[in-house]
Amino acid sequence: MISSKMRYLLSFFTGAALALTPALRAAEPVSILAETPDWSDLAPYQKTITREDFLHLLDTVYAPYGAWKEAIEVNKDSARIHQPGGWGTDFRLQFAASPDAAVPTPRFWKAAPARPATPGKPLAGYTIALDPGHLGGRWARMEERWFQIGNARPVMEGEMVLLTARHLADRLTALGANVVLIRKTTEPVTSERPATLRGLARAELAREGVSNPSESYNGPSDPHKTESVQWQSELLFYRIAEIRERARRVNGPIRPDLVICLHCNAEEWGDPAHPQLTDKNHLHLLVNGDYHAGELALADVRHEMLFKLLTRCASVELPLSAQVASSLAQATGLPPYEYHNGKALPTGSPYVWTRNLLASRLYRCPVVYCEPYVMNSQPVFDRVQLGDYEGVKQIDGAARKSLYREYADAVAQGVATYFAGKK
Ligand SMILES: [Zn+2]
Repeated sequence: MISSKMRYLLSFFTGAALALTPALRAAEPVSILAETPDWSDLAPYQKTITREDFLHLLDTVYAPYGAWKEAIEVNKDSARIHQPGGWGTDFRLQFAASPDAAVPTPRFWKAAPARPATPGKPLAGYTIALDPGHLGGRWARMEERWFQIGNARPVMEGEMVLLTARHLADRLTALGANVVLIRKTTEPVTSERPATLRGLARAELAREGVSNPSESYNGPSDPHKTESVQWQSELLFYRIAEIRERARRVNGPIRPDLVICLHCNAEEWGDPAHPQLTDKNHLHLLVNGDYHAGELALADVRHEMLFKLLTRCASVELPLSAQVASSLAQATGLPPYEYHNGKALPTGSPYVWTRNLLASRLYRCPVVYCEPYVMNSQPVFDRVQLGDYEGVKQIDGAARKSLYREYADAVAQGVATYFAGKK
């Protein structure tokens, strides 16, 4: 049994929790901080895909096990995208009669074979945006990506992946890419702050049935923290508003050919001041997909899924993620992580899973989303204590680079191999 609060938190993680739009707009239901989609922006995708390809992508990547069937009606020559509750007019997507008859797919990104090879510079002509997850710094405790053992160096995911991103930027630039860091510091890119989101947080709590929420909570172990306006407004800030602003920059000014999202994984660590270490240490990558029927009931999510599908992001994301996974597996020696909770679905690579995360859904170009290393495993904790360094150090009898350089080098190698191999 999953409690309603737990279900709410899970949906919050994907950014697909329901928010009621203001009554005056009387529009379709959309996710928190999402706008009602403009379906006319799918008009350029008329006759760009065959019925067979459309169904294949729905059934294998985006909404397997019939999850799409309440939202989309597939007919002989077209698909009808339902508008919930009878509002608006259903959007009708016409299929191409055959692959040869398909209209070219409009998109701002270039697939790997689009450029002639430059010797030694397989990434020349491509723009790659790096998205170090989370924030770190003064926000690390708030975003619950911080723990410390005694007086040891604190472990902060936002800092670890920012350092990795800086090394990766150097590697990719040397390979010819134009590299853009979506986040360059430990400060957010959104102008929203928890204080600006308290009204929305209060409304969300009311919708969840919490009528008299406490204003604040008493530390990370407070059992009632999730029912406080403070915790909800913080979550809206770092998990939703920040990612939506990153997406606005990706899809607007940056328009890259690829986004690489950098994360480190963790197992439950409990009290961040007295964290539990774990024997588990593993690696996986996530490709956008596996939308559930409840998520597709939200107009913005349905619209964003169709954008990912119609622009054929998975045609790059699946093989490129498998290549980067293989490179990371070789460099780190980590085994594949396996989901057993229904939150993700397996693909052809044991390291690559499909899952509907907010960032990988909103970025309208191919995304490689990396989750190597369990931060609260003993070996990773020990390597964080060693900090960043040049060359190698002996760790458990093996010569190892710093964790950040090992991570960056492996991702760069996987990306370079994929782009070079596609020539
Ligand atoms: Zn993360």
